[in-house]
Amino acid sequence: MTITKNTYLNINKYVLAAAIIFYIAGISITKMVHPGLFFVFAAGFFCLFHERFFIGRLKLAAHIWMIPLLLTAITFPLVIEQTIVADVEEMTMSTTATLVVLITIVLAAVPFALFMIGRSEEQPSKKPRLRIVSVRIVVQIAIYVIWLAVSAYGYIRYPDVDEGRPDLLFWGMFHVFSVAILPYLFGRVLCSWMCPNATMQDALFKNMHHKRLPVPKVIDEQSHVTAMSIAGKADKSAPYLPFTLMLVWFIGFNIETIWDLTPKIWWPFICFMVLLMTASVLFPWRKICTHLCWLSGYRCLSAHNSMWRIRYNRSQCKQCKVCQAEKVCPFYIDIRNQDNEMPATCCLCFSCMEACPFPGVITFRRNPEDKKRMIEAIEGKAA
Ligand code: SF4
Ligand code: SF4
Ligand code: SF4
Repeated sequence: MTITKNTYLNINKYVLAAAIIFYIAGISITKMVHPGLFFVFAAGFFCLFHERFFIGRLKLAAHIWMIPLLLTAITFPLVIEQTIVADVEEMTMSTTATLVVLITIVLAAVPFALFMIGRSEEQPSKKPRLRIVSVRIVVQIAIYVIWLAVSAYGYIRYPDVDEGRPDLLFWGMFHVFSVAILPYLFGRVLCSWMCPNATMQDALFKNMHHKRLPVPKVIDEQSHVTAMSIAGKADKSAPYLPFTLMLVWFIGFNIETIWDLTPKIWWPFICFMVLLMTASVLFPWRKICTHLCWLSGYRCLSAHNSMWRIRYNRSQCKQCKVCQAEKVCPFYIDIRNQDNEMPATCCLCFSCMEACPFPGVITFRRNPEDKKRMIEAIEGKAA
C-alpha cells in the first residue's frame, strides 16, 4: 500500500476526529474520562504536526501510535474500577466503559497497522530544519504529552476526590513563573513552546487547509495587543473585549480555586476545551489565543521589556516576502514592519527566522540597547 502525503494526513485527521467524537460520547455516557483517548489525541497531533518528518518514516510513525495502544491497555483495569465505583448500574456502565476502551484501542490500531504495512511515496523535505525549531517542537510535544497525562490522572481522580489539592501549589507557582518571570527574559516563549492550546491550534491550522471563518476586523485588530492597550501603547479607540474576557477567566479561576470546585466543574471544563478545539478548526490560526486567553494578556504585559528577542535587520533584507505574516507567523506579525522593536505578541516560535532564506536578516539576540540601558541604570544606582 502506497501512502502519499494526503493519505498520511487524512489517516491522522480522521482518527483524531473519531477520537473526539467517541471521547464526547464516552464521557457523556460513563461520566468519566478515558485516558487512552488523551493519548490518541497526543499521537494524532504529534504525527500531524511532524508530517514532514514522518512522511518518509512511516514505520516510526506507526510506533508513535503504539503509545496510546499500550496506555489504553494498561489503564483498562483502572477505567473499569472507576466506572464501577462511579455508578449504581454497575453492569451497564462497566460494559459501556469496556466498549469505549475497545474503540480507543481500535482507533490507535488503525493508523498503527496502516503505517506498518504502508510504503511512503514521498521523501522527507530536503530543506534543513532550523535546530532551534526542532528543539521547540520536541519541547512543545513533550509538554503536551505530560499535560495530557496529568489531566488524565486528575480527571480520573476528581470525580470522587476527598483529599487536598497538592496540584494547586504547583499551578500557582507555574503561573507566577510563566506570567510574571519568564516573559521578562524571553517574552511569550511559553506560548509557542509549552502551551497545549498552542500545540492544538498549530497542528489543526497547519494540517487542515479548509476555508476559515473571518473574525470581524474591529475585534481582530485590537485583540493582538490587549496588554499593550492596558499599557497605553495601542490604539485607544480599540474595544477592550479580550481584556474583559481576561478578567472573566481570572475571576473564574479564583472562584474555582477558593471553593475547590474542580471536582464539580471538570465535565463542563472538558466541554469547554472541546469547544475551543472546534473553534480552532473553524477560525484562523491562534484566534483562541488572541481573543480568549487571559494568559495572553498578562504575558504580553510582562513581555514588553523582554531581554532576548527576534530582531529584524532592515539593511540586509532582500524584500523577497517569504516571511509573509499570514503564512509564517502565528500572531500575524509582519517582521518587515519591525525595527528592533518586536511586539510583545511575538511568541518566539522562530518560524520567521526559519522561513527567511538569507542569513543575518532575522536573528535572535539580546538587544544591545537594552543591555546598554541596564548597564547605565546599574552604574547610575551604584554611583
Ligand atoms: S495565548 Fe494562551 S492559549 Fe495561546 S499559547 Fe499563550 S497561553 Fe496558550
Ligand atoms: S515574529 Fe517570528 S518568532 Fe515571533 S511569533 Fe512571529 S514568526 Fe514567531
Ligand atoms: S524572508 Fe528575509 S529577506 Fe525576505 S523579506 Fe523576509 S526578512 Fe526580508
